[in-house]
Amino acid sequence: MSILVMKFGGTSVADLERIRNAAEKVRREVDNGHEVIVVVSAMAGRTNELVGWVEQVSPLFDAREYDAVVSSGENVTAGLMALTLQEMGVPARSWQGWQVPVKTTDAHGAARIVEIPRENIDAKFAEGMKVAVVAGFQGVGPDGRITTLGRGGSDTTAVAFAAAFAAERCDIYTDVDGIYTTDPRITRKARKLEKISYEEMLELASLGAKVLQTRSVELAMRYKVRLQVRSSFSDEPGTLVCDEEEIMESRVVSGIAHSRDEAKFTLTDVEDRPGVAAAIFGPLAEAGVNVDMIVQNVAEDGRTDMTFSCPTNQVLRAEKALEEAAARGDIAFGKMIRDEDVAKVSVVGIGMRSHAGVAARMFEALAREGINIEVITTSEIKISVLVARKYMELAVQTLHDTFELDKIGGIETASEGP
Ligand code: ADP
Ligand code: ASP
Ligand code: MG
Repeated sequence: MSILVMKFGGTSVADLERIRNAAEKVRREVDNGHEVIVVVSAMAGRTNELVGWVEQVSPLFDAREYDAVVSSGENVTAGLMALTLQEMGVPARSWQGWQVPVKTTDAHGAARIVEIPRENIDAKFAEGMKVAVVAGFQGVGPDGRITTLGRGGSDTTAVAFAAAFAAERCDIYTDVDGIYTTDPRITRKARKLEKISYEEMLELASLGAKVLQTRSVELAMRYKVRLQVRSSFSDEPGTLVCDEEEIMESRVVSGIAHSRDEAKFTLTDVEDRPGVAAAIFGPLAEAGVNVDMIVQNVAEDGRTDMTFSCPTNQVLRAEKALEEAAARGDIAFGKMIRDEDVAKVSVVGIGMRSHAGVAARMFEALAREGINIEVITTSEIKISVLVARKYMELAVQTLHDTFELDKIGGIETASEGP
């Protein structure tokens, strides 16, 4: 019998009525002859509330206790989903991460799935259970403690189960009906894509498009999982994430991502000598700070400024690590300036590999709107800029227009080659 994975995000299980609506979709697939692994998120808003409680109690919290608290939202929805299915006459039971067990690394708060043994769930399918309802986002570490997979991690739970159980499909049900050229909440001109390549989705996700967790796309790409994003409120087909070769539409820029979750640090008056970058970024790495963009300004008289960005929820850790390094005498700087009023906007497209001129066009468009670019980074298929947060929406809308993403194919660029 073929297995399907169906994942329902927070808004899709936000109340009992919506859980019933989701359960109906599951029942239909069971009636079609499938065995189903349902992965559920916590009810909308619940995880934020739990995170808020943890931070109130302990700003630099013990990550193991953070996981103990924030994983609990999914336990509630898993049980409620199993009960709802049972009430509909569908043989179902719930599984918390440790019960499966979803084995993970010990990186609390951002753990990676290492293994999902099939035996326990397979044994229940063999006994006639039709639906295994799995609490997303959580697992169990090597020491037996509960772990979580990072925000949005239920997507990764779903893809990992699809890979482990060789599922026919992995459907991610959410509050939009697919993947768009940019977040449809930011511009009405955003266009739904029929298909998107793993690689482009990976970039978009890692640059802030939270429709899929980055790690879930990585796993789908590695294990060739047929991943579809679709609406839990309609029966329309969604967007398929697939190999580049399966996509007919060719375009230079495929999508625009944004991230509010950025903070910028500037250390002034840093000594300009070999080893100074290592002395700054070493302690940050040890403190678990994910440094993203970096610029070192032109030095004058052997002194320079160093600017970097990191996620807003790591600001306290970053500050502490730098202050401690300074107290030890490992680094010296004039001032530490922290700016949390920034956002990152990125354009992504595999066509950039063979088309030049995207960066120039992007910078010109932002300049026309008077948007100052604070930091720039590029890779083969993306360009990211850091801008003042108040300009984030405008930047996304402007770039969406500039690259004509509302039209199939987008802009034509004349130049070929790098
Ligand atoms: P869930 O709770 O179902 O996991 P999320 O809120 O995590 O849902 O992800 C869905 C949201 O992702 C959408 O409501 C939308 O605002 C946002 N989003 C960001 N970028 C995109 C994009 N390119 N296409 C579709 N949705 C996007
Ligand atoms: N509930 C978790 C979160 O809000 C995981 C998820 O929904 O994917 O981040
Ligand atoms: Mg999500």
